[in-house]
Amino acid sequence: MKKIDVIDRWLEGHSEKAGLACYEKYVGIKDWDMNRFDEERRERLLEPGLLEYSQKIAESSPDPVEKRRGEVLSRLLSRAYIDLDKDVYGRRNGIEEILMKFRPKVAGKEMGRTEVRELMRKDEDRDMRREAYLSDNPLGELFKDEGIRLFLRRNELVRRIPWTRKLGFENYPECILNLLGIPLTRLLSIFKKTKEETEKYYSDFIEFAREELGVKELMPWDIPYILQKTVSLPDKYFPRDNLIPSLKKTVESFGKDFDALNINIRFVDIPYGGLCFGIRIPDDMRILLNPRDGHRWYGTIFHEFGHALQGASIRQDSFILKGSEGPFSEGMADVWGGLPSLPEWLESFTGIPHPEIDRFMKARIFDLIYGIRSIMVWSNFEIEAYKNPDSDLDEVWNRLMREYLLIDSAGKRWASNYFILTYPMYAQNYLLSPMIKEQVYAFLRRKFGGLLGSPDVLNYITENLYADGCLFPWTEKIEKATEKPFGPDDLIRVIESLP
Ligand SMILES: [Zn+2]
Repeated sequence: MKKIDVIDRWLEGHSEKAGLACYEKYVGIKDWDMNRFDEERRERLLEPGLLEYSQKIAESSPDPVEKRRGEVLSRLLSRAYIDLDKDVYGRRNGIEEILMKFRPKVAGKEMGRTEVRELMRKDEDRDMRREAYLSDNPLGELFKDEGIRLFLRRNELVRRIPWTRKLGFENYPECILNLLGIPLTRLLSIFKKTKEETEKYYSDFIEFAREELGVKELMPWDIPYILQKTVSLPDKYFPRDNLIPSLKKTVESFGKDFDALNINIRFVDIPYGGLCFGIRIPDDMRILLNPRDGHRWYGTIFHEFGHALQGASIRQDSFILKGSEGPFSEGMADVWGGLPSLPEWLESFTGIPHPEIDRFMKARIFDLIYGIRSIMVWSNFEIEAYKNPDSDLDEVWNRLMREYLLIDSAGKRWASNYFILTYPMYAQNYLLSPMIKEQVYAFLRRKFGGLLGSPDVLNYITENLYADGCLFPWTEKIEKATEKPFGPDDLIRVIESLP
C-alpha cells in the first residue's frame, strides 16, 4: 500500500475514535481525556518527512486525484504543526473542559445555557437580561491569560515552521486564512464592503431600538430582546415537539426519505447553539442541540442538518477528500438553515397568517445585519489580537463593538467570547456562509424557478456541491455550481431589495 493510503486509513480510523469520544463527552456517557487523541495525532502526523512527502505528491503526481489528495493532506499536516503543538492543544482542551462543566448563574440561580439565552431574548426585566448577559463573566476572567498565551504561541509556531516562514506569514490569522483559501486581504475587503453596505440599515435599527425601549443608551442585552420582540415570529407556531417532524417533512418535499439517512439527532445541553459530528462519513452523522420552542431553533436544527446531509451525501473513497473547508461547510449548513426563514417555507410548513409572514420578511433584515456585523466584531478582534497580542485587548474589543454594533461592550469582556479560543479563526466562516447561501439560492431560483418542493434542486446540490467532497477547492466549486465567482454580491442584493 502507498504511504498516502496508509495515512488516509489511519486518519479515518482515528477521526472516528476521537469523534465518538468527543460525542460521548458532550452527551455525558464518558468523561474522556481529549488530550490523549491529540497526542496520538501528534505522534502520527508530525512524523518527520511526512509533510514534505505530501507536498511532493501535490507538486508532481501525474494522477489529478492523487495530486489533490496530496494538496489537501499537506494543508492538514501544516495545520497540525500548530494545532497539535502540546502547549496549544493542552490549553485549548483545558478551556473546553472548564466550559463543559461551567453552569452560569443568573440572579443567584444556576441554569443551563439555553435558559440563559432564552432569558436574554425574552425577559421583560432589563436587569434580568443584564444578569443573563454578564453570567459568563467568570469565564472571561478564567480565560484571558490563557487566551493571550494561545495567541502568542500560535504566532510563534507560524513563524517557526519552515513552510510558513517561506510564505512570509507574520501571524496565525494570515496563515489560517491562506489555508482556508480566503487570504486576509480578500477577507478584509469583503468586511469593508459588507460594513459599508449595511451601515445605514444598522444605524436606523439602533435608532428604532432606542426609541422602542425608551432608553438613552442601548446595551448588549437589549438587542437580542428587541429583535425577539419586533422581528421574530410567535413561538406558538414553532413548538419544540415539531422540530424533527417539520424537518422530516421538508426533507421529504425534496423527494428524500429522512429515515433512510443515517442521521441521528439528540437533545442535550451544550455550550454552543448546535453541534454536528461526522463520526464516520457518510454512514454515521450525529447532531446535538438543546432547543426550546421558537423559530430560531428551527433555523438551528436545519443548519446542523445541512452539515449532516452534506456529510451523508459524500461519495469519496479517500478520507482525505471527505473533509471540507470551514467556509464551505458552514455555507452548505446555511443553505438548509435558511429554509425556515423563506416566505415559501413559512407558507407551506406552518399555519402563520400572510400578514405575519410579510411583517417578518420586512423586519428580519435587522436580524440578518446584526448577525453579520457581530461576526465582523469577532473576526476583526481575532485578526487584531493576533497582530498585537500585547495591546489592551478589552479596549480593542470595546472599540470594535462601538464601530460595528454601535454599543458599549459593558465591561472587560473579550475573553468571555470563548468561541474564539476553542475554535480559533473560525468566526469568519459565519460571515462567508450567508454569502455562499445567497449565491446558491440565487442560482437555484434562476435555474429551477424556486427552491422548495423539487427533487431536482436537491439532486443538483448533491451532485454539484456535496458528492465529491473536497476534490476541488471550495471557491472553485461554488463558481462552477453557481456559474459565477464567489463573492458578497447576492447577499448585498438581498439586503438592498428589502423595503
Ligand atoms: Zn455550522
